[in-house]
Amino acid sequence: YAAKRDKVPFTVYTHEDDVERRQQLRLAQDLPDAVINNQLLLNYQPIVRISDQQVIGVEALVRWMHPKQGLIFPDSFIPLAEGSGSIEALTEWVLEEGIRQGSRWLADGNRLSVSVNISALILHNPSFPDMVARKLENIGFPAELLKLEITESAIISDVSRATEIVNRLHEMGVCLSIDDFGTGYTSLAYLRKLPVDEIKIDKSFVMNMMHAADDEVIVRTLLDLAKSLGLSVVAEGVEDALIWRILEALDCDVAQGYFMSRPVDIDTFNAWLKVQPWKDELK
Ligand code: C2E
Ligand code: MG
Ligand code: MG
Ligand code: MG
Repeated sequence: YAAKRDKVPFTVYTHEDDVERRQQLRLAQDLPDAVINNQLLLNYQPIVRISDQQVIGVEALVRWMHPKQGLIFPDSFIPLAEGSGSIEALTEWVLEEGIRQGSRWLADGNRLSVSVNISALILHNPSFPDMVARKLENIGFPAELLKLEITESAIISDVSRATEIVNRLHEMGVCLSIDDFGTGYTSLAYLRKLPVDEIKIDKSFVMNMMHAADDEVIVRTLLDLAKSLGLSVVAEGVEDALIWRILEALDCDVAQGYFMSRPVDIDTFNAWLKVQPWKDELK
């Protein structure tokens, strides 16, 4: 009987699955407090123009300092925030913090754009553009220095509503960037329909460019495509000087990656900005 039962396809739930699920549930329950109790923090990663090695912006990436579990990365809690209704408060916090920091840099004479990641769900909330407008106004940050990064899946789930919201943000002067470009499969149609300013080529294509001929072809094709559509291009996943040089040769506009800097806390970022040790490796 036991042998026969083994052949029946069914999912085996182990004790570990239960532990995992309970842990996720607990994390999701802790999330609303995380925003209120100041447990979220932003790390900043520079975005650099290739032609003159100028830092032109940062991407603000959220982390969660959990009181018991320590530092948690966004891939582990953004999906929970999306599933538990905390994503709105989280996004609002990230925007506020990012825009405030951007205005501090501006006051110091550093005109850096600030890129913030926006979940699909947010693009279905009609009051989102007003919230962004209020924050920009209150803090006094120019809309054209704010970039909202969305993934293709964000648009696909409800095209007409997302388009309306994205159009309003565009009218406000906010930049729209398509993140992880190349990993979705309906990208091209949206590039024509939406007021997109920039695409970010997914790091999976960029990271291994010098070893994988296929990846180089993909990057080159995406660069050509973006050029013909008049879009600016950020290559993510620039991990070393060699990749930088290849991108430079391919006439790519902008780079982001561990080669210049990992995402770091604000003090580390500001110290890095002054010294920029990465440039030595290109000499
Ligand atoms: P993303 O927007 O594509 O951000 C880039 C991710 O790639 C970051 O991971 C960054 O640390 C990593 N990265 C940057 N350069 C390199 C490189 O040269 N090599 C490699 N291997 N990786 C690199 P992180 O910070 O763990 O963020 C993961 C994802 O979480 C982000 O991917 C974004 O989709 C999401 N995320 C982060 N912050 C937020 C947020 O405030 N709201 C929402 N909705 N999502 C966020
Ligand atoms: Mg991003
Ligand atoms: Mg990305
Ligand atoms: Mg991603």
